[in-house]
Amino acid sequence: MEAKVSFNIWTSGCQMNEHDTEIMRAILERDGYRWTPQAEKADIVILNTCSVRKAAEQKALGFLGNLKHRKEKEPGLVIAVGGCLPQNREVRNFLVNKASFVDVVFGTRNYHLLPQFLREALQQGKRVVADQTEDIPGPLPACRTSSVKAYVTIMYGCNNFCSYCIVPYARGRERSRPAQEIYEEVVQLADAGYKEVMLLGQNVNSYGEGPDGKVSFAGLLGRLDEVPGLARIRYMTSHPRDFTEELIDVIASSHKVCEHFHLPVQSGSNRILKLMKRGYTRERFIELTEIIRKKVAGASITTDIIVGFPGEGEADFQDTLNLVREARFDAAYTFLYSPRQGTPAEKMPQQIATDEKKERMARLLDLQNEISLQHNLSLKNQAVEVLVEGRSKKDEQRWSGRTRTNKIVVFEGEDDRDLTGALLDVTITGAQTWNLIGSLKKVHEKEESAPLKRSKQ
Ligand code: SF4
Repeated sequence: MEAKVSFNIWTSGCQMNEHDTEIMRAILERDGYRWTPQAEKADIVILNTCSVRKAAEQKALGFLGNLKHRKEKEPGLVIAVGGCLPQNREVRNFLVNKASFVDVVFGTRNYHLLPQFLREALQQGKRVVADQTEDIPGPLPACRTSSVKAYVTIMYGCNNFCSYCIVPYARGRERSRPAQEIYEEVVQLADAGYKEVMLLGQNVNSYGEGPDGKVSFAGLLGRLDEVPGLARIRYMTSHPRDFTEELIDVIASSHKVCEHFHLPVQSGSNRILKLMKRGYTRERFIELTEIIRKKVAGASITTDIIVGFPGEGEADFQDTLNLVREARFDAAYTFLYSPRQGTPAEKMPQQIATDEKKERMARLLDLQNEISLQHNLSLKNQAVEVLVEGRSKKDEQRWSGRTRTNKIVVFEGEDDRDLTGALLDVTITGAQTWNLIGSLKKVHEKEESAPLKRSKQ
C-alpha cells in the first residue's frame, strides 16, 4: 500500500490561529494525508503565520529560511505559507515574487481549500497563489488538541481598523457564522464530553450579521447557556466600545458563561485612545469595569496594554498607570508598540525609542504585577472551583486547571487518578503573580459548574 504523504503545521499567534490549525489538520487527514509532529520528518510543511507584531513576522520568516535550505537538499519538499503574514503586502510580494521555493501561498479565509491547493502542487507541480476570499466556510472538522476545552469560531474578520492593528487587513471584513450552525457545533462538543467552549472572534461583541438574521452576541450566549452537559462558556476577544449592559445582564444571569472579562483597554490616555481609533474614553472604560463588578460578583477583569504608541508622552503614560491603579486588573497582557506596515500608526510622527518603551514597560509591570498578586493572595484559604485541563506543564507531579475567573491553579492530586476534565473544589494555599497554588482535600467531582454569583468565592 502506498505510504501516505506526511504533513506538519508550524503555528504561531493567537487562539484563532491555533484553531485554524486544528481544522487544517482534520481536513488534510480526512483527505488521506498523515500528520507528523516533527516538521523535519514531513513531506509537506505548512506555516500558519501571525503578523500582529514584528517579532512574530521575523519568527516565521526565520523558519521559512531554514526550510529553504532543507529544500535545496530535498527538492521534493512541499512548503505552504498561510495565516496572516501573506496578507501583508510587503511579505506577500516577497513570497510571490522572490520565494520561488514556496509552493503554496494561501490565506486566513481559504485554508479549507488546502487539500485542493496541495493536490495542484503535488500532482501538477503547479505553484499555487490563492487570493483571500470574503466567504466563510460552513461547518468544518477539527483535530482538537484538548479533550476538555474546545475552540469554536463564531465570526471572522474585523471592521474596526484601530490605527495600530494589522488584523483587519489580514483577516478581512467581519462575517458571522449562522447561530444555528454554532449551536449545533457546541451541542456536538458537549455530547462528545467537552466541558468548556471558547468562542473565538477578533471582536466577538459585534457578532450578529449572520445569514440567518440578526442574533446578537448576547443572544448567542443566551442560547448556548442552555446546551446540556456543557459546564463553561468563555469568549475572546471583546472590544470595550461594544460591550453593552444588555450583554453584562445576560452574563450575570447565565449559568455557564464564566465571570472573566477580557477587555483590551490599550491605553489610559484619552489623547492616545483617540489616535488609536479605539472609540471609547478612559472614563467610559472605568465605568464599564464598575458596572461589571456591580452586576457580576467575583468577576475578574483582565486587559491588553500597548506601551510606547507614537506620540505617547510621559503624561499619557502616567494616565495609563493611573488607569491601572483605578481599574485594578486581575492581570494585564502588555506589549511594546510595534509598527505594522500599512497601518496609519506606522506613519505617525513621534515614534518612541525602544529603550524608552522598555523603561516604561518596566514601570507598568512593577505596578500591575503587584496588583495581580494582591488579587491572587485574596483567594488564600478559599475553596475555588477548578476545571482540570491536565498535568502541569512545569511539574508533572501536579495537576493544572482554571477557575471560572480564568486563574490558573496548580495542585497535587490525592491519588494517581486521572483528573483531566474533572470539576473540583480546590483550596488555595498559596499565590503567585500569574497563578495560584492549591491543595485537594478530597476528590469530589462536581456534575455542574457553579456560577460565582451563587457561591461567595
Ligand atoms: S478591534 Fe482588535 S482586531 Fe480589530 S482592529 Fe482593533 S485591535 Fe485589531
